[in-house]
Amino acid sequence: MADLLQETHQEFWQPPPVVMADGVEIHSAPTMAEVCPRCGTEFLLGSGFCHSCGGRRPEALSPAARADAAEMAGLWEQAVTWVRSAIAGLVRTLSKIKLPSWLHYLHFHEIQRWIGLSTASLVAFIIGLACIAGALLAGLLNAKTFVDWQAIQFYRAEWLLGATASFVAGILLKKPSGD
Ligand SMILES: [Zn+2]
Repeated sequence: MADLLQETHQEFWQPPPVVMADGVEIHSAPTMAEVCPRCGTEFLLGSGFCHSCGGRRPEALSPAARADAAEMAGLWEQAVTWVRSAIAGLVRTLSKIKLPSWLHYLHFHEIQRWIGLSTASLVAFIIGLACIAGALLAGLLNAKTFVDWQAIQFYRAEWLLGATASFVAGILLKKPSGD
């Protein structure tokens, strides 16, 4: 057995073949990938790593695994197509829905025309309203201790200060009326 191994002609880059008792050689090494999956360089014979990018050489996919991967890719493609068509259908449906006519009164320019404020003033006014809403929402916090209660009062005072500041800004930004 030992001299049988010695006799077999062996290249330096090949793993030693396992020799069975009846002389049949079995290459125990699994079949490896031919091409680097990262950079596409062909692997040198027997190398464990890519000589170009240094990537590890993976095992070659067995036919069954390859079929599985192809099936998964097909399923994924189907799912992507389905989602894409669903989104397209939704967009088409939404574009068909006609908005009720009264909704245009909620448009910014409509409100602006109605209130008669300049854009900057109207923005400041809306920020002020939001600050007042914040002050009202601070009232929803319930205080368990005196310190909490004090903190909530500070919150409320800050929101109201913000509202005052933005209302003042709105007044200052207001364009002088024609008359
Ligand atoms: Zn590579």
